[in-house]
Amino acid sequence: MDAEPKISIVIPLFNEIGVFTTLIQQLDVISTKSTTSIEIVLVDDGSIDGTSLLVIDQALKDSKYQAVILSRNFGHQTAISAGLKCARASDAIMILDADLQDPPELLFDFYEKIKNGFDVVYGIRKKRKDMFLKVLSYNLFYRILKRTSYISIPIDSGDFCMMSRRVVNIINIMPEQSRFIRGLRSWVGFKQVGVEYERRQRYAGKSNYSFSKLLQLAFDGLFNFSYFPVKAMTSLGFISILTSLFYFIYVLYIKIFIGDMPSGFTATIFLIILFGGIQLISLGILGEYIMRIFFQSKERPLYIIDKMILNKEIQTINYGKCSK
Ligand code: UDP
Ligand code: MG
Repeated sequence: MDAEPKISIVIPLFNEIGVFTTLIQQLDVISTKSTTSIEIVLVDDGSIDGTSLLVIDQALKDSKYQAVILSRNFGHQTAISAGLKCARASDAIMILDADLQDPPELLFDFYEKIKNGFDVVYGIRKKRKDMFLKVLSYNLFYRILKRTSYISIPIDSGDFCMMSRRVVNIINIMPEQSRFIRGLRSWVGFKQVGVEYERRQRYAGKSNYSFSKLLQLAFDGLFNFSYFPVKAMTSLGFISILTSLFYFIYVLYIKIFIGDMPSGFTATIFLIILFGGIQLISLGILGEYIMRIFFQSKERPLYIIDKMILNKEIQTINYGKCSK
């Protein structure tokens, strides 16, 4: 293996024992086919099913594989960030899921585009073979994000992409604790292009994204790249003030010209609940931003690496000696 590969493929893995052998087979086929030197960075994100042992084993027997074993589960986006930091390629870095939902052979098309001067080539999902509800919520999310974000994040594109060395260098120095890679990638700019492909079903195993993790990802997209929620709070405030003003005029009119006070117990209760709800949601929205400031201000490292294997050798990671 060259000291410096031209292409790195970063693959986050969390409990992917069922796909591992097939994944490696497909990657080996691609790297044999390629005339350009490829390294593969396997990032184990705290798997508990033995995936980490397979990753270590692979990197120990084949030097084109690099193993990065995180100390616990840090989440998909952080695992990708760890991989991007460790990738050594001089030209381009590709991000690929382990479950083979995205075709690894697109590497050749992607790299062609990078060589033609594009800095980011991302996959656009033509059709999603997934559960109806998941497809529906994804569609809705991408469209909301598109409308509210202050940068243009392409619709229906995931993390599956190839980026030039300089884009990855820029992403690597971004200090964000809560990372939404496709947003950071768009933020960088330069020449970006999408390539359509059909997203397959998971090769084996089940999605590691629970509903709450998915919601967290959606929130990260929304709150990290949009100030729309805060603006919406202000608008709601104005709307409620206007509504109460109109209601006040209406009550005054009835009292003066008709001489009867409208009785409206239900309406009152309804309004109290409505505005109570609006206030709580607004506090929650503020909380989302404050929480992000809170985590950012701690300045903790994004992830901790337990073991690393490079060129078939276990690397020592020195976190410094304790003072005592
Ligand atoms: N993944 C990870 N850490 C996690 C969850 C997922 O590294 O906490 C990896 C997982 O192994 C896979 C990729 O991220 O390679 C995408 O996950 P998944 O296929 O479960 O998500 P989906 O495709 O269903 O959105
Ligand atoms: Mg998947």
